[in-house]
Amino acid sequence: MSEHLRKAVEDRRDEVVALTQALVRFPTVNPPGDAYGPCAEFIAKRLHRSGYETRLIVAEGEPGHTDRFPRVNVIARREGRAPGKTVHFNSHIDVVEAGHGWSVDPFEGVIRDGKVFGRGTCDMKGGLATSIIAADAFIETFPDYSGAIEISGTVDEESGGYAGVGHLAKQGLFSRPRVDHVIIPEPLNKDRICLGHRGVWWAEIETHGRIAHGSMPFLGDCAVRHMGAVLAAFEHDLFPALAARRTDMRVVPDGARASTLNINAIHGGQTDDHTGLPSPNVPDRCAMTIDRRFLLEESLDDVKAEVVAILDRLRRERPGFAYAIRDVMEVLPTMTERDAPVVTAVAAAIEAEFGRAPDYVISPGTYDQKHIARIGHLHDCIAYGPGILDLAHQPDEWIGIDDMVQSAHVMAAAIHGLLTGAAEPA
Ligand SMILES: [Zn+2]
Repeated sequence: MSEHLRKAVEDRRDEVVALTQALVRFPTVNPPGDAYGPCAEFIAKRLHRSGYETRLIVAEGEPGHTDRFPRVNVIARREGRAPGKTVHFNSHIDVVEAGHGWSVDPFEGVIRDGKVFGRGTCDMKGGLATSIIAADAFIETFPDYSGAIEISGTVDEESGGYAGVGHLAKQGLFSRPRVDHVIIPEPLNKDRICLGHRGVWWAEIETHGRIAHGSMPFLGDCAVRHMGAVLAAFEHDLFPALAARRTDMRVVPDGARASTLNINAIHGGQTDDHTGLPSPNVPDRCAMTIDRRFLLEESLDDVKAEVVAILDRLRRERPGFAYAIRDVMEVLPTMTERDAPVVTAVAAAIEAEFGRAPDYVISPGTYDQKHIARIGHLHDCIAYGPGILDLAHQPDEWIGIDDMVQSAHVMAAAIHGLLTGAAEPA
């Protein structure tokens, strides 16, 4: 049986390449969110041919959705002969802008040296194509399977996923009893299982001052200098404390196993897009955007309180210091248990394919698993896919053809394991 499934995957080697190329040729660049409709329709048609019932879901009313750039998602379901568990493969169809430095057309799908090149090959249209042919191979080999297989192509992952997985999750499409196991073929490498991601807190800190003539700054109070004091306090107290805080989560790369803070932007005083000379003013406002990534061992309340404590201390110690702080976005860290069914099924399939146990990792940044955990309350979810993590968002992004085929073996065996309860086809 195992050999039949292997052969059914191998027979689809050319097809996984052609499918990846076809997907890359839709320039689904986000922002603005281009070509979502045609890409989703293409996927729906393709899955319909494999016997899926398909639905296009437009994310009316969600952030990002406009008449000009509609947020169109596709979800497809193929019922087996008898009721049972449902395995769902979710891929985002949006890609980041191509940028500079390409040696090939980023939307052509050029094949060279056993690789398909193009924006989104690795992250993650190659993963989507891989899941489609893996499911096809399973369906051909086990036509009488019980349960159901679902495949979705969703939008806006690169901008938070609110009109994509977030929208579908709100409609119950990522919850039990409809779905039991979710695999997200993000590029985390073909022999690794990604169990989850760190948390995110974006906030805007504003310091306040008093406007005055720039020739007599002593008559005003410079908000930029107050922000300088915030920066100095962060450098002195916060950054060292964060770097010393290590997690038991296996975050890759290793530098992300600590808490991190990025100063995303600082702005005070006159905007730099003015024409002519600036007018001499003491700025009365300065704003800083921070991007704090936190660990499973930290609570969001503690993460916020740590920053607020520094600001409150400055208010006590620094004459005239006044501030405001505003949340911009928050995502809790999530981690699927190592003994969850989807983890053990994919782990067994990786071991069968590569002859060794998988690495278990945590992603430094978030991806759509957050919506599945938080809105769908489904915790049997991982990221597993054929792309190489370091190539995502780079020029000359590519996906290895052998990597897709090997990963399709893993996915097909995992479907078998999850729908029949067997670790792998025997
Ligand atoms: Zn991605």
